[in-house]
Amino acid sequence: MKLDRRHFLAASGALAAGTAVAQAASPLPFFINTQNNPLLPPVKGKKRVVVCGGGWGGVSAAKHLKQNDPNLDVVMLERNPVFFSCPMSNKWLIDIVNSDYLTHSYLKTADKFGYTYIQTEVTGFEREKKRVLTAQGFIDYDYLVIGAGIRYNYEAWFGDDRRAAAYTKAHFPAAYIPNAEHYQLKRGIQEFTGGDLVMTLPPPPHRCPPSPYERACLIAAKIKRDKIKGRVIILDPKESPRPITDGFQEAFANLYKDQITYVPKAVIKEVDPFNKKIVTSAGDFRFDHSILMAPHQAGEMAWKAGAIGKNADGKPTGWASVDPLFLNLKDDPDTYVIGDAVGIVSPQFNFYPKAGHVANAHGKIVARYIADRAAGKTPKADLPDNLCFMMVNLDPIQDIAVRFKYHIDEKGVIIQDQFDDNFRTEEMVVEDFAWAKRMYGDMFG
Ligand SMILES: Cc1cc2nc3c(=O)[nH]c(=O)nc-3n(C[C@H](O)[C@H](O)[C@H](O)COP(=O)(O)OP(=O)(O)OC[C@H]3O[C@@H](n4cnc5c(N)ncnc54)[C@H](O)[C@@H]3O)c2cc1C
Repeated sequence: MKLDRRHFLAASGALAAGTAVAQAASPLPFFINTQNNPLLPPVKGKKRVVVCGGGWGGVSAAKHLKQNDPNLDVVMLERNPVFFSCPMSNKWLIDIVNSDYLTHSYLKTADKFGYTYIQTEVTGFEREKKRVLTAQGFIDYDYLVIGAGIRYNYEAWFGDDRRAAAYTKAHFPAAYIPNAEHYQLKRGIQEFTGGDLVMTLPPPPHRCPPSPYERACLIAAKIKRDKIKGRVIILDPKESPRPITDGFQEAFANLYKDQITYVPKAVIKEVDPFNKKIVTSAGDFRFDHSILMAPHQAGEMAWKAGAIGKNADGKPTGWASVDPLFLNLKDDPDTYVIGDAVGIVSPQFNFYPKAGHVANAHGKIVARYIADRAAGKTPKADLPDNLCFMMVNLDPIQDIAVRFKYHIDEKGVIIQDQFDDNFRTEEMVVEDFAWAKRMYGDMFG
C-alpha cells in the first residue's frame, strides 16, 4: 500500500505556506494516524479562529473576522472544493440562472481576504483541548465557529434501513444540501415527461421554509410552458403554506390550477421509495417521480461537537443549544454555532428562519463578538434580520417575499415581527436579484 504522493504534497504545502490551500477531498490512506498529525501549526502572537463549514454562515464569518481584526489567524475548513449556493438554485433548476451564477471560488476568496481555506472533512472535536480533528490532521484554536448546515433525518422514515435512505437520496433527492443532488434533481425535472411528481415537505423547522413552494411553482410553470401532461403534488404536514400563505395559495389556485395539487395536513407515515408509494395522514399517494424531503436536523458537525440540546425527556432536540443572544454553546463560551444548525432562541417564535440571509448575519455578528473578545472588550448583543424573495410566476416573471425583523423586549426575550408581501410583482424580481448580488458581494466580493 502506497502513500498518495499528491495528497501528501498538498498537506505539507499547507503546513509550509499557511495560506489558502485546496486539498483532496478523500482522506489519506488509513495507515497514517491523522489524529496525531498537526494540520497547521499555531501562528506565534496570533489568536486562531477555526471556522468549520464554508457555507453561508462560515464564509461570512471567515471574511468578517479578518476584516474586524486582521491580526487574527482565521482558518476555514470545508469539505467541498467550490461554494454552491442553495439560494437562487430553484431558478437554476429551470435554467433562469446558470451554474456560474451559483458557484464561487473558495481559494480566490480566502486569498483576497487573507484567511486560510483548507478543503478537508471535519471528523471530530476535542473541545476540552480546543482541537478540531480532520481527515488530514488536527488543528488547535482559541475560538471555534461551527456553521454545520443541516442533515436529512432519514432515520425518522426508515429507522436503520440504510439501503432505503441511500436509494431515496440517489433516486429522489431533496437537493436541500449543496452537492451532486442538485444535478440529479435537475436531470429528473428536465426528463419529466408527465404523470405525478410528488414533493414531501419536511415538518418545521426546516431549511428555508418558503423555498419548497417556490420550487413547486417553478416546476409547475415549466410543466405548463412545455405543455406536459403532469402535475406537482405537494404533501405538506402543515395546514397551509407558510410563510407568505396568501401569495402561494393565490399562485396555486390561479396560475397552476391544473399543475399543482396542494395537500395540507399530510403527515408522513410511511415512505416506500422502491415501490414509489407514500402513506400519509391525508391519504396514500403513488408517484412517477418524487422529491422526497426527509425531516431536517442540524448538520453532522454540530452532533460531533456535542452541541445538540436535549429536551425534557433527555432526548436530542436535533439542533444546537446556544445562548440566544451570543450564539455560543451554553456550556462553552469559546464555541459558537451559526446559521441553520442553531436551536431554539425565543419562546415567541422558537427558531430563526433557517435562511442564508440569517446565516450571513450570524457570521458577521459572531465575527464582531470574537474580534471584540480578542481585543479584551465585552461584546454587545446583536440580532439578525431576514429577507426572502420567492419566484412564483414566469409569464410574466414575478416574485413574492417575506421580511422578518427582530428586537429584544424588556424581559430580554427576542421578538420577531413578520411582514408578508403576498402580491406578486415584477419589481420584486429585480429586488430578488439585487439581494443575491448584495449577499454574494458581502461573502465573496
Ligand atoms: C432550494 C433552496 C432555496 C433557498 N433559498 C433561500 C433564499 O432565497 N434566501 C435565503 O436566505 N436562504 C435560502 N435558502 C437557505 C440557505 O441555503 C441556508 O439557510 C444556508 O445555506 C444556511 O447556511 P449555513 O452556513 O448554516 O449552512 P450551509 O450553507 O449548508 O453550510 C454548511 C457547510 O458545512 C460544510 N460541511 C458540513 N459538514 C462538513 C464536514 N464534516 N467537514 C467539512 N465541511 C462540512 C458543507 O459542505 C457546507 O458548505 C435556500 C435553501 C434551499 C435548499
